[in-house]
Amino acid sequence: MRQGSQRRAKRANYMLRRGPFIGGVLLLFVMSAFSELALAEARQTKLPSDQSADQKSAIERTRKLVNEVRGRSYLEIAEAKIKIETFKSESNFFKARFSITRYLTFRRLQIIIYVNPAVFDRNAPETALRAVIAHELAHALYYKRKNWFQLLGLVRLTSGKFTREFERKADLMAISRGYGEGLIEYRRWLYGNLPADKIDSKRRTYFSPEEIMMLITGLREDPDLANKLMKRVPLDPKQLAAAIK
Ligand SMILES: [Zn+2]
Repeated sequence: MRQGSQRRAKRANYMLRRGPFIGGVLLLFVMSAFSELALAEARQTKLPSDQSADQKSAIERTRKLVNEVRGRSYLEIAEAKIKIETFKSESNFFKARFSITRYLTFRRLQIIIYVNPAVFDRNAPETALRAVIAHELAHALYYKRKNWFQLLGLVRLTSGKFTREFERKADLMAISRGYGEGLIEYRRWLYGNLPADKIDSKRRTYFSPEEIMMLITGLREDPDLANKLMKRVPLDPKQLAAAIK
């Protein structure tokens, strides 16, 4: 009995000494993630009145594509609110992000798909656009399935290997839902519209047209292939060939 109460007293004493420290570290972690994201949001948020006609039409066209692809292939997130915004870049045309500042204040998780209006000036084929939207919606679905803490972790993970797995998983989902041919078209269009020094890194990060071809054939023979590859994502043609046979 006495030993038990001594142990309890010891533990209470430990918590008294350590509690504020642990609490402080947690608070710092949450606050730094919060401020990082709040800044990122402030930079990206634009008032609707600041939008040019070009931006407005890019947003409208993207919204139509998102609704169409989602209605056909992503019923899991049929009800999710997805915001469309524009961004400028030389080498990126779409990206999917989430807003965690709203999530931290217990509002609903906000998913944002960003579009670079240049994609519409450079005549990307319609099937290619639907496929890249299917890739972005795969990211959206992934965010929706994560909890608060996992999302916080995602903000910090930016290693090269993580990015490649993350992007190739989204490709796998789009391909397994029938967008493989379109994704080949998109990547071909993309390579033709990039500064030459950016093509290599795109080929490494995402599946190349040749790899997508292998995946389409592999999926025909084994419909469960995509699920298997999700667990161990092939990062180059060699790894892919080894995983398929
Ligand atoms: Zn992506």
